[in-house]
Amino acid sequence: MKEKPSILILNTGGTIGMMMDPRTKALKPVNFNNLFDLIPTLKLFNYNIDHYCFDPLIDSSNMNPETWANIARVIEKKYELYDGFVVLHGSDTMAYTASALSFMLHNLNKPVVLTGSQLPLGMIRTDGRENLLTSVEIAAAKDEETPVVPEVCIYFENQLFRGNRTHKFNAQNFEAFRSFNYPALADAGVTLDYHKDKIRKPNFKKLKVYDRFDDNVTILKMYPGISPNAVASIFDTKNLKALILETYGSGNAPDYPWFIELLKNAIDSGILVVNVTQCQVGTVEMGKYETSIALRNAGVISGFDITTEAAVTKLMHLFGNNKNTEDVKVMFLKPIAGEMTEA
Ligand code: ASP
Repeated sequence: MKEKPSILILNTGGTIGMMMDPRTKALKPVNFNNLFDLIPTLKLFNYNIDHYCFDPLIDSSNMNPETWANIARVIEKKYELYDGFVVLHGSDTMAYTASALSFMLHNLNKPVVLTGSQLPLGMIRTDGRENLLTSVEIAAAKDEETPVVPEVCIYFENQLFRGNRTHKFNAQNFEAFRSFNYPALADAGVTLDYHKDKIRKPNFKKLKVYDRFDDNVTILKMYPGISPNAVASIFDTKNLKALILETYGSGNAPDYPWFIELLKNAIDSGILVVNVTQCQVGTVEMGKYETSIALRNAGVISGFDITTEAAVTKLMHLFGNNKNTEDVKVMFLKPIAGEMTEA
């Protein structure tokens, strides 16, 4: 007889684990060991469901490389005991955590589904109930003995996305996430429709966790009127190893001589500069316009259609595990976990 699926729910905090403080009327994180009291329907799954609660529970604005590593280490420790993992997480930085986990968990062959909610679980109209129930079902789903979604993903409001392709685009609606440059992995309607050709295949190798990050990475968003002082000061950041240049359109930035010179000097001094577009849909195409030829000539590399969330976590991950900028540059240009489409 087949064993029941076993699922571990990791609670990191966020709205899904928050309640209204009666005194301040502000949302505050709560420990909920009473998950089954809040969502009794969970009992209807014929699964073994366990719950791991981080202490303290945090608003996802307080996530950082250390907390990402803590999540990865729990998954590593419990990996053999469970068929899948559901991570309850605030939606604000969920796309960053999902990206970071996708880079940390090499040879992941089981589902890691991040979910959260816009309204806390205790509220009548909460979106957390459906998000959690469907995430648990996805984490348990198998084809024969093989997990259907062996990757780090985000489930939110009826759609399952590859985690490192997501962006939180809506602060109000239940439909908070989009994956602009990669199709959904599944749609949840009357049935759960998996788009299997879009889902990564398991490689059946042993999980290996790379939990080191280097935070000497930063982001510069271009805007008309940016001053030489602003650009110079960001390149002056102590120990800076990489900078994501958020450019216009298909990867364009001004070709003013002062700007190109600052870029060139930074790159010549060993800082890796990656071109990521401010647009949500589409890819960087350096060379399409003259303004991006100047960037390419200065030594800026393309981020193709990667999100800023995935680019920043990928660079922190790569520098955390490699010393040499040239090696990081070569590795950055190749997808690690389906986070970008190469030209
Ligand atoms: N501020 C919350 C957080 O990201 C919002 C949410 O949970 O959706 O932790």
